[in-house]
Amino acid sequence: MRVENGCFCPECGNPVDRKGFCEKHPDAVYPFFVPAFGFNDERQCTRNLIHLLKYSKRRDIGEFFGEVIIERLAAEEFIAQADGFVPVPLYKTKERDRGYNQSEVVAGPICKKTGLPMLSKAVKRIKCTDSQTKQENAKKRQENVAGAFQASDELSGKKVIIIDDVITTGATTRELAIAIKDVGGSVLCALCIARPGIDESKESEI
Ligand SMILES: [Zn+2]
Repeated sequence: MRVENGCFCPECGNPVDRKGFCEKHPDAVYPFFVPAFGFNDERQCTRNLIHLLKYSKRRDIGEFFGEVIIERLAAEEFIAQADGFVPVPLYKTKERDRGYNQSEVVAGPICKKTGLPMLSKAVKRIKCTDSQTKQENAKKRQENVAGAFQASDELSGKKVIIIDDVITTGATTRELAIAIKDVGGSVLCALCIARPGIDESKESEI
């Protein structure tokens, strides 16, 4: 893999090897996630932009991130293997309040460029979870999202890539991957805009 900012294990957060597997977690529910940007640029641009995307109705920023992500990753093998993209769903009332699902906005240009379908109707968030940024640690994050998602048979036999805005510990995407596996689908990897540390994400409510 040639991914610039690295690929990380969704179970422990450590970088994966060149083949895309974590030594400690070869049986992870999905093998790795890929953040397109680093989070700690001096001016905190990435953090500020994600904040605007989520809380100030700036859809355009999500579209921009989607375009950059696919431009950077278009040649990766996992893109060629995919049958479609699954944006992490929001709970329906949350999506209504926000006006859109930011992960779906990011997925838009990725689907367009690759010609692969956006499989957003194939997954549902069935539990209204508390914000992951309020959870104290990785274990709490995992408990908070347990059983939060349901996938439909449409994903049976499909190889998909999950799209999220930020991935911190990987708990949310891991839970979604479990739901996809439950209906006979598989997750090649997850793509996100950036990856904050747990403390950073609490600090800025991202
Ligand atoms: Zn690991």
